[in-house]
Parts: sequence; structure tokens; C-alpha cells
Amino acid sequence: MTRTISTIILILLLSAGCATVSQINLISTPQEQEMGRQFSQEVEKEVRLIRDPLVASYVDDLGQLLVTHSERSDIPYHIKVVDTDEVNAFALPGGYLYVNRGLIQTAENESELAGVMGHEIGHVVGRHGARQMTKALGLQVLLGAVAGQDPGLARQVAAEMAGVGAGLTLLKYGREAENEADGYAVQEAYDAGIAPEGMATFFEKLMALHDEAPEEGGIARLFSTHPPTRERVEHARADIARLPAKKGLRKDSPRFQKVRAYLNEKYPMKKKAKK
Ligand code: ZN
Repeated sequence: MTRTISTIILILLLSAGCATVSQINLISTPQEQEMGRQFSQEVEKEVRLIRDPLVASYVDDLGQLLVTHSERSDIPYHIKVVDTDEVNAFALPGGYLYVNRGLIQTAENESELAGVMGHEIGHVVGRHGARQMTKALGLQVLLGAVAGQDPGLARQVAAEMAGVGAGLTLLKYGREAENEADGYAVQEAYDAGIAPEGMATFFEKLMALHDEAPEEGGIARLFSTHPPTRERVEHARADIARLPAKKGLRKDSPRFQKVRAYLNEKYPMKKKAKK
């Protein structure tokens, strides 16, 4: 196989106009999990993880709680924290989730973090990653990469997904998939006893930060993969309004605040240069 990164970029550019994720999914769950496993190995060569149990087990516990209340809780999820200021999170096919430290530090309370994590879990539930990659790369190329026939390609794809490549990403799913993942996130948080408004308030905050400093690297990254828009916030709020009233939904937890304070002390976020 002689495909190169420029071919991938070309395919991505050609498919960039499509707003919808292909409904065709020819990849089985075991194939999807194998794909995720291999890509996660490549991603983890490129990024630095935070394995400190105070942080890692908290994020894992919160994620697993949401997974339990998701519509795809029959597969294991591998949830890890990436040491970077960038405000982002991403999911690989088959249940591999990465939450950036900068996201935890930018969230004000647990419900905001849960909203974004629920959204990433929503991409796994909707199998958006497998669909998007099938569409962008073609099934044969993709399975060839996973089967090790072209390990270089797997590495390049993984680098793209980790955001360490040219800035293009295979995890740009389109509006329909983003809305679908948001819908799952609202339901997961609500069912898990967490206030679903967190996702909406977090997106609003990110939109405001982005308006202030559109070039700000950390914020820009989230905008490139999961652009928070007014439409998404309104969508989420409408979904929330349709849910039956429920008492005791929690907005925050002492554990979240402890983790955030710990991160802020150990990894101070770069202050914005301009207002
Ligand atoms: Zn998304």
C-alpha cells in the first residue's frame, strides 16, 4: 500500500463538504475495538498521560458512571487523561477516551466536565469514529492499517487524531453527529444523576472565550473538532427542557474541585496574553 499522509489530507479535503456522517457502517464491534486499540497505542506514543491516581481514577470513575447510563455500556471503555493545556477531549472507535487536563481546568464544576465526557461517549455510542474513518479512508485502507499491512498509515492516522499532525482531524464528524452526541450526553448525565445543563453552560463559556481570543491554541482545538455553536446550545437546552423534572441532580462534587485545584497548582495554565 502506498498511501501517504497527503492522500489522506486530500481525501479529507474532498469529503469536508459533507455535513452528515455516513450511515453505512461495515465495521463489526470487534473490528472497531481492535482499530481503537491500535490507534490508542499510536496516540499514546505522541501524548503524555497523567497517571497520577488522584486525577486518573477520578476521571475514569466519572466516565464509567456515564458509560453505565449510556446506550452502549456492553463494551469496556478505556478513559485516560492527557497532559496538555488544550481544552479538548476525544474518543477513538471502540471506547478509547482521552480527556485533556486543560478541559478539567477550564470546567467550573463537575457537570461541565461530565457534559463534554458524555459527548465523547456519545460519539462511541453513535459509532461516529468508525463511520467517519470508513468514509474518509475507505474500508480496505482502514482495515489494512489496522491489520498491520501498513503500520505507517495507522501511525499517521493516529497522529491526526491526537491533534499532533497538520491540524486536520479525522474526528471532525459534522453537525448531525455532533448533535447526536450532545443528545446522548444530556441523557447520560441526567440518568447518572448529574445536572445536564453543564454541557450547555460549558459551551457558552467556550464560545465567549473564543470570541475574546480566537487564536488561543487550547480553545481553538476544541473549536476545530467539536465546534460549540449557538445552535448546539439551543438544541441541548431544548433536550433538557423535555426531560421530566428530577430532584437531586448534582452540579458539582468535592472530588472534582479537589482534582481541579490539584491540577491548577501542579500545572498552572498559561494566562491569556490579551483580552
Ligand atoms: Zn463531538
